[in-house]
Amino acid sequence: MGASESDKDRRIGRRALLVGGAAAAVGTAVLARGELAHLWWRLPGVQKPRVEGAVDFKGALWVAASSGNFRTADRPDDYAIDRVIIHVTQGSYASAVKVFQDPAHQAAAHYIVRQDGDVTQMIRELDVAFHAGNREFNERSVGIEHEGFVDRPQDFTDAMYAASARLTAGVCGRYGIPVDREHVIGHVEVPGTDHTDPGPHWDWDRYMGLVRRAERA
Ligand SMILES: [Zn+2]
Repeated sequence: MGASESDKDRRIGRRALLVGGAAAAVGTAVLARGELAHLWWRLPGVQKPRVEGAVDFKGALWVAASSGNFRTADRPDDYAIDRVIIHVTQGSYASAVKVFQDPAHQAAAHYIVRQDGDVTQMIRELDVAFHAGNREFNERSVGIEHEGFVDRPQDFTDAMYAASARLTAGVCGRYGIPVDREHVIGHVEVPGTDHTDPGPHWDWDRYMGLVRRAERA
């Protein structure tokens, strides 16, 4: 993802310059709106302002999940986030996107990491995604799907491990989650689950090493 990442950086840089010029012209109005938004933040039960299409992981593609597959929340203010939960889709990327957009599915994760290392975000980290099959663990976690099947080790590509590790390191950094196997867990480790993902071929030692390296970068 090296080359495409730097392309994105350049595009954002150019747009930031344009927006900066416009903001200077209407400085007072922007400031007033900023203060208002700041006050909203402090009122209990009022959601943080959201920007349509915004992502929590830089470079992620935003594809909205159906509202039937998550609950709007205001994390980490209403629920502390202290877990990252690793999943495997048991299907293609396209099929995972499709079911997460289906309100009847009643499950979806925040992110899908593809075998080519591209990351799609479908639910904001603010919100409670239905991915763990356990209400308490849904409320306290960020869920990351990986494109592939638990019995096909070749599905877990170098690009996937690297991208997912950067993603998990970012989540841990945002919420002060320790990078260890108590806090970065598989779906199989969620209390009460009958799911087995990510399965025996997920290389936890390698993954945690990559997360620690990404965290220091
Ligand atoms: Zn799972």
